[in-house]
Amino acid sequence: MPMSIIQGDITTMRVDAIVNAANPQLKQGGGVCGAIFRTAGASRLQRACDALAPVPVGKAVITDGFGLPARYIIHTPGPVWRGGTHGEAQQLASCYQSSLELAAAHGCASVAFPLISAGIYGFPAGEAIRIALEQIEVFLAQPGHGTMDVSLVLFDAATHRLALRVHDDLR
Ligand code: ADP
Repeated sequence: MPMSIIQGDITTMRVDAIVNAANPQLKQGGGVCGAIFRTAGASRLQRACDALAPVPVGKAVITDGFGLPARYIIHTPGPVWRGGTHGEAQQLASCYQSSLELAAAHGCASVAFPLISAGIYGFPAGEAIRIALEQIEVFLAQPGHGTMDVSLVLFDAATHRLALRVHDDLR
């Protein structure tokens, strides 16, 4: 199944799992993480997260989706951009790999990602998109994973347009 590149609010996605651009402490924070906590129910999600924290950058853990339409939330701490010479690209790629493997292990048929690290953590959007699309494609090409429905959900119109351009350039 080909991946989808869509514009929207990830908290509204009716999928098996949405991915949270988390911090290693799995605290609510701002950005997409803040929105996910608010919609899921902040205190019950925080209790579930506190039992799993800390999580290393590039790894992933899973909780219930609580008040979200999604059944699960996969929490993956992305790298903070420090100029690109500190292994940020590899760490970001690992976020997508870890999250997709965890989704598959929990029997998820549909997963939606935000653009991890590209907000408060400062990763350049074009490069973050390229890594996201490449890692999703690599995962879907593996035996047994080709039927998973994976979406990249961009919050604003400009980043969505950029994602479509990066996707075309990768063809
Ligand atoms: P990070 O700390 O990993 O950089 P952010 O939450 O600051 O995470 O930003 C990651 C991306 O998520 C940004 O591109 C931001 O515009 C986007 N974003 C923010 N809110 C939402 C939302 N409700 N749905 C989808 N994407 C969102």
